Amino acid sequence: MIETFGYPVVSKRVSQYVGEVQRAKGETATKRLRLTGMTSRGTKSRLGEIPDVWKPLVTCGFRVSDKCCDVLKKEPLARAMKNFGPPFVGTRAEESMQRELSYKHYGCNAYHMKSPRSTPIAFWTGQDVREYIQRELLPYSPLYDMGYDRSGCMWCLLGAHHSDDRRFELLAKTHPRVYAFCRDRLGLFDVLAVVERLWGERYRRRTKQAEPTVSPSPNPALAGFGILKGG
Ligand code: SF4
Repeated sequence: MIETFGYPVVSKRVSQYVGEVQRAKGETATKRLRLTGMTSRGTKSRLGEIPDVWKPLVTCGFRVSDKCCDVLKKEPLARAMKNFGPPFVGTRAEESMQRELSYKHYGCNAYHMKSPRSTPIAFWTGQDVREYIQRELLPYSPLYDMGYDRSGCMWCLLGAHHSDDRRFELLAKTHPRVYAFCRDRLGLFDVLAVVERLWGERYRRRTKQAEPTVSPSPNPALAGFGILKGG
């Protein structure tokens, strides 16, 4: 996925927008929207624009994309839905802002969405889930006993730049060979270093401390990192 499409970083929306600009051929309306927020009607759309802090990702030396979610999750689900109808999905509002907004907007039974689905535990807390598992003696993934609070894709960088995110520290302890693969073959931590530096710049701007200028390209953090350069 990474070699074919690029890295999923920051959030799905940022990955989608940055990838669209990187792949744009010439000065397209989408590229202008993503970089300036200007729509084809001449109005400003902040939601359609890449936040300033993440714009340097466009020229950071590696490809960014949200396509892996389409290929690994959305497209198989769409195929299955043709045979089985709308799915039951175990996502919960407290897991992300996007899921919270979706729950507030559509509720649990979102059958009028473009991709209809039911999310019957959308309003549950993590504690609700744990209590239900204990009460009903349900089997669950051993990953949760290892300290993980999610059991998604091991190489995903979405949200990994937040200072309280410990997914790769845990991975180094629980799955050292996968960790080494992520580091040596996928170059994940070189990419994460770039994202964390940009995020740190934003933090420093907010606190009005002295700061060096971000110089995204060519990127010293990617020295020796050959897997996707120039893609
Ligand atoms: S959750 Fe998985 S499929 Fe979705 S962006 Fe992350 S790595 Fe890709």
